[in-house]
Amino acid sequence: MSPDQILMLIDFTYIAATVGFILSLKWLSSPVTAMRGVLIGEIASASAVVATLFDARVTEHKWVIIALIIGAGVGVPLGLVKMTAVPQRTALSHAFGALSAALVGISEYYVAAPNVGKFQMAEIGLEVVIGSLTVTGSLIAAGKLQEIKWIPQRPITYKGQNYVSLAVLASAVILILALVLHPEDTFLFPIMVGVALVFGVMLVTPIGGADMPTVISLLNSYAGFSASLLGFVLQSKVLVVAGALDGASGFILSVIMCKAMNRSFANVLFGAFGQVQAAAAGTKEDRVVKSASAEDAANILAAASRVVIVPGYGMAVAQAQHKVRELYDILSKKGVDVRFGIHPVAGRMPGHMNVLLAEADIPYDRLLEMDAINGDLPQTDVALVIGANDVTNPAARSDQSSPIYGMPIIDVDKARTVMVIKRSMAAGFAGIDNPLYYLDHTLMLFGDAKNFVSDIVREIGGSGH
Ligand code: NAP
Repeated sequence: MSPDQILMLIDFTYIAATVGFILSLKWLSSPVTAMRGVLIGEIASASAVVATLFDARVTEHKWVIIALIIGAGVGVPLGLVKMTAVPQRTALSHAFGALSAALVGISEYYVAAPNVGKFQMAEIGLEVVIGSLTVTGSLIAAGKLQEIKWIPQRPITYKGQNYVSLAVLASAVILILALVLHPEDTFLFPIMVGVALVFGVMLVTPIGGADMPTVISLLNSYAGFSASLLGFVLQSKVLVVAGALDGASGFILSVIMCKAMNRSFANVLFGAFGQVQAAAAGTKEDRVVKSASAEDAANILAAASRVVIVPGYGMAVAQAQHKVRELYDILSKKGVDVRFGIHPVAGRMPGHMNVLLAEADIPYDRLLEMDAINGDLPQTDVALVIGANDVTNPAARSDQSSPIYGMPIIDVDKARTVMVIKRSMAAGFAGIDNPLYYLDHTLMLFGDAKNFVSDIVREIGGSGH
């Protein structure tokens, strides 16, 4: 093949890969087509990588192979983590993606310096700053989600924090401008990288609790934009497009999640901008709760006409989804209308509950999003909460001092009877008490979600209702 033909084939593969990326995003947005979306995304990425290997500028293939082996060595174990660790794994992936973009940008600067054009310097500067702050931000986010001891999970805020953060960000921008004007001042470059790394830490430490999922998708977006800018630096069209798609979709997801949790986007974007301080957290109500046995729960469920199951993080921890499927089957057979209320941030990652319930083959049409199910809860006989806590906490509606105030919740308290399966009175992710548990029509079912649901299924099965 002539060099021109190879070039044409590479460009054609890049266009096909771009179409693949777009289709992948489209298909990933519904559980019915998600598997197809993953597959086309993988094929598109692999073909873009293979096409790049034929680029005439790639002369040292041995280094690419060594990098591929190292990358696979890190990536394969990362892909095999437990489902509950996926959010922190995702944060680590963003850190690696941003690190590679930042490192390539840094090397591009040192290869070209001091003869770096103004436009090229602006591209490199922006790309390296966004990449570097994403590296440290993502590492802190992963540490928080992994509950590493020396990284506090609660938001760390102090007076005047926004001004300090904005000043650090402004210094990074000034350093980019200085380098654009004087690219030969190579000593400024590592200072700029250092400032960006520090800003990444400052961006994520003031965030915690309910804002964590949003910050993860925002970091996804930053990693994507950094890759897109790198595409300009390297003059790689496919990297420009793939990075922009990644950046834009992460950004849109962040906005959707902010809306779902009634959070200010500026808050998450700049870190604790006007954030409600978490001082009110941890206040425990000194009241009694009513607890019930699996037998009681089985009787109530079997006598109900309409049941809404609200799963949360505890269902994921207990891996109770298959037992929940058995409960769904046995109740449906008895003519009970069973549906699932899915909160957008239930669990520890977007779509966490959908993935688990899909794994247990629960029909998609039984899964309703928060807005769709909330109107039906007042006509619901039983709301069965399985390992969910924050996403059902009525304090979010009424208690202005609560750190989750304003976050929309699934209104389980409006059902005629509420039953909550959890092991203890311990708090959920936001670390706050839940007034739901003290309501007159709430029954606490203390135990591990998998075992308790299994006991209920046995009771219903054996009771001959
Ligand atoms: P949650 O508020 O974290 O509560 C989960 C509850 O499950 C806990 O109170 C715990 O109580 C119980 N639990 C744990 N293991 C259990 C087991 N084996 N069996 C039974 N119960 C068990 O969960 P959520 O209601 O799903 O809310 C999600 C929270 O995570 C929100 O605050 C959200 O903002 C945050 N978050 C979400 C994402 C996301 O993208 N979805 C990401 C990061 C953070 P016991 O210990 O008493 O059993």
